[in-house]
Amino acid sequence: MDLKALIREIPDFPQPGISFKDISTVIGNAQAFHYIIEELAKGFRADRPEVVVGIESRGYIIGAPLAYALGAGFILVRKPGKLPAATERIDYTLEYGENSLEIHKDAIRPGQRVLIVDDILATGGTVSATAELVRRLGGEIIGYAFLAELDALQGRTKLDGAPIISLVHYE
Ligand code: AMP
Repeated sequence: MDLKALIREIPDFPQPGISFKDISTVIGNAQAFHYIIEELAKGFRADRPEVVVGIESRGYIIGAPLAYALGAGFILVRKPGKLPAATERIDYTLEYGENSLEIHKDAIRPGQRVLIVDDILATGGTVSATAELVRRLGGEIIGYAFLAELDALQGRTKLDGAPIISLVHYE
């Protein structure tokens, strides 16, 4: 299926020079949404993830149905101040400024097999920060799943060597 044709590209959003990949058009398509989840589930089923970690907020759109399809639990990584119980927090630097993410301290048991999911792998800053949170809780990262990857930004070089599947690649 030509997913790329269904992802809308918005030039200069949210700022000049950025080509924004708008996934609302692809997930709004019933066949495409089903295909995305099935393909990613097929890619990681043999690795038997026990939990899927989704990154706020578009990571939830793919991560939650993927967890369901894999028979795994679903764990939220959220922006600061949103999770109600005790959290582990990481502060990290993005191209334009600082950011922070949190996960509940008891969300992952040591040794649990974890699949990390987001909509788009760009610089890799967000997902590598998430990976650090998972490692701090003792999770074993078995892979990374994305709908799309911006290859030129080389985000995958920030990850730890676990398998990465991106269904769509941009140069
Ligand atoms: P990064 O930390 O640079 O890998 O950025 C990852 C996050 O930013 C993802 O959660 C994406 O949702 C979002 N993002 C980064 N670049 C784009 C883009 N060109 N179009 C749409 N979303 C993007």
